[in-house]
Amino acid sequence: MKVIENIKSEKPTLSFEVFPPKTSDNFESVRVAAEKIADLKPAYMSVTYGAGGGTSDFTVDLAEDLIKQKGVTPLTHLTCVSSDESRIESELRKIKSKGIENILALRGDIPKDLDKSKMKYTYAYELIEKIKSFDDDFCIGGACYPETHPESENSKKDIESLKIKVESGCEFLTTQMFFDNNILYNFIMRLLKAGVDVPVVAGIMPVTNAKQIKRIISISKNALPQRFIRIVDRFASDPQALKQAGIAYATEQIIDLYANGISSVHVYSMNNTEVAEKIKNNLTEIIK
Ligand code: FAD
Repeated sequence: MKVIENIKSEKPTLSFEVFPPKTSDNFESVRVAAEKIADLKPAYMSVTYGAGGGTSDFTVDLAEDLIKQKGVTPLTHLTCVSSDESRIESELRKIKSKGIENILALRGDIPKDLDKSKMKYTYAYELIEKIKSFDDDFCIGGACYPETHPESENSKKDIESLKIKVESGCEFLTTQMFFDNNILYNFIMRLLKAGVDVPVVAGIMPVTNAKQIKRIISISKNALPQRFIRIVDRFASDPQALKQAGIAYATEQIIDLYANGISSVHVYSMNNTEVAEKIKNNLTEIIK
């Protein structure tokens, strides 16, 4: 099934993200976690891809397992920054052969040691063009950044790049995490003004431990609302309380998004079955 059908629906829907293991030793435990999350009957599940391609087999294997064992539609991520054309073609053949219909086409972060003159793909839109020329039947999504991609000079240029991405065949955009919904509402207004009118899936990260918070603060440009900072300050030293508060915060964000007409929410569940279950349980009367 094409995920765009779900994403276009006006009914509130929830999807979850899982990431594949780095080594085959951990494949089984990740598979079990992914299947438990699939039991929550999400609209679809995305499976991430290591930028260097090291986990590529696991991405496809996990996605195939979701189809075969659980009947859940997967959205496989694919990055291009470290790949040449033949590698991308081989990935696409693999994806196609497993009956996977949906790809989140990404550039990936540029590795520090990569010789940029040897890059075949500089931007995600080039990967999208490649996928479309390989097989026009794939449903293709891309990433977007309500608080602007860190490499971008400014938000206007970032949105101009998104326009190119959409014109290349990207049917929907999934956002980077954000903690203040007003940032997303503003971003969507700017997208529409620029003529980018594909559906936007809101990416929500339930922050449930102190390590995650430190990482978010160190790597991202995320604006952290006072309400969020107060929760972290108050509960950071009590892991269980922080988890409960983080899930409640994410739930509130999701309900506000639905109330404001954003019908597709994607939860960065990070293989955490408990967090996925609790969020879903908080929304049983809203997602029917
Ligand atoms: P692009 O869309 O190519 O954008 C990268 C930068 O180039 C931006 O600053 C953009 O403004 C600029 N740009 C784009 N097109 C043009 C153009 N035509 N001209 C000039 N400038 C341009 N990483 C992984 O390794 N694996 C994953 O599975 C993964 N999943 C992700 C899922 C989501 C929803 C998101 C938001 C990110 C994910 N990432 C993942 C991270 C992502 O790979 C990085 O953020 C990466 O730095 C940018 O990828 P992109 O596809 O957004 O790149």
